[in-house]
Amino acid sequence: MTEPRALTGRTPLGLFGGTFDPVHYGHLRPALEAQQALGLASVRLLPCRLPPHRARPGRDAGQRLDLLRLGAREVPGFRVDDRELHRSGPSYTVDTLRHLRQEQGSARPLVLLMGADSLAGLGRWHRWRELFDYAHVVVLDRPGHASQPDGEVAAEVAGRWLDGPGALRDAPAGGFYRLPVTPLAISATRIRRLLAQGRSVRFLLPEAVRRHIHQQGLYGYPQV
Ligand code: ATP
Repeated sequence: MTEPRALTGRTPLGLFGGTFDPVHYGHLRPALEAQQALGLASVRLLPCRLPPHRARPGRDAGQRLDLLRLGAREVPGFRVDDRELHRSGPSYTVDTLRHLRQEQGSARPLVLLMGADSLAGLGRWHRWRELFDYAHVVVLDRPGHASQPDGEVAAEVAGRWLDGPGALRDAPAGGFYRLPVTPLAISATRIRRLLAQGRSVRFLLPEAVRRHIHQQGLYGYPQV
C-alpha cells in the first residue's frame, strides 16, 4: 500500500476500524480532526467483517467496502485497508495491530482511533490489554457517550494518559489520550433506518456515497 510521501519511519500512523455500514460524516470528520490534531500523515480505515448475526442482504462486505472507498477518496491521506475482510473468522483488532506492527517496524507510532461508544465496550474486546503493546489508543468524543474510561479499562489506562498529542511521538505504543472533536450525532443505524423508510440521508454522508446507495438500491432504498 502506498502512503503519502510525508510518512517517514517515525510519523504516527492512524488506524480507524469499524463496520462502516455505511460510512458517514460521523466517521470522516472526527478522523480528519484526529489526523490534523495528532499530526498523522495517514489514516487507515479498516472495515471489519460483519459477524454472521448482523449480516443482512444488501450490505455485504464488498458493498460496504465500495462505499467506504467512495467516502475516503475525498480526504487526502485517508486510505482504505481491507485486510480484515480477507481474514476468515472474527476480525480481532489485536491481530490486525500485530500484523501492522510487523509491517511498519518497531519505531513508528501506531495510533488506534475509536469513538467514545467503542471505549465503553473496550473491556470486552478480545485480548484488549494487548492493544497497548502495539498502539496508542486515542478516544474521539461522540455525543451521548462518555469519553472517560471506567472499570477495568480505567485501571489499565491510569498510568498511560499522555500529556498532549506530541507525546504520541515519544513512544511507538502504549499511551492513552482523549481528543475532543466536533460533536456529530450521526450513526449508521439511523442512516439505515432513514433509507429503509425512503427518507433523505443528504448531508449525513458524502454525496458520492449517497448516490451510490441510491443507484444500487442498498439498504432497502427504493431503486429509481
Ligand atoms: P452502527 O450505528 O451500525 O453501530 P456506527 O455509526 O456506530 O455504526 P461504526 O462503523 O460502528 O459506526 O463505527 C466505527 C468507528 O467510528 C467506531 O470507533 C465508532 O465509535 C466511531 N464513530 C461512529 N460514529 C461516530 C460519531 N458520530 N462520532 C464519533 N465517532 C463515531
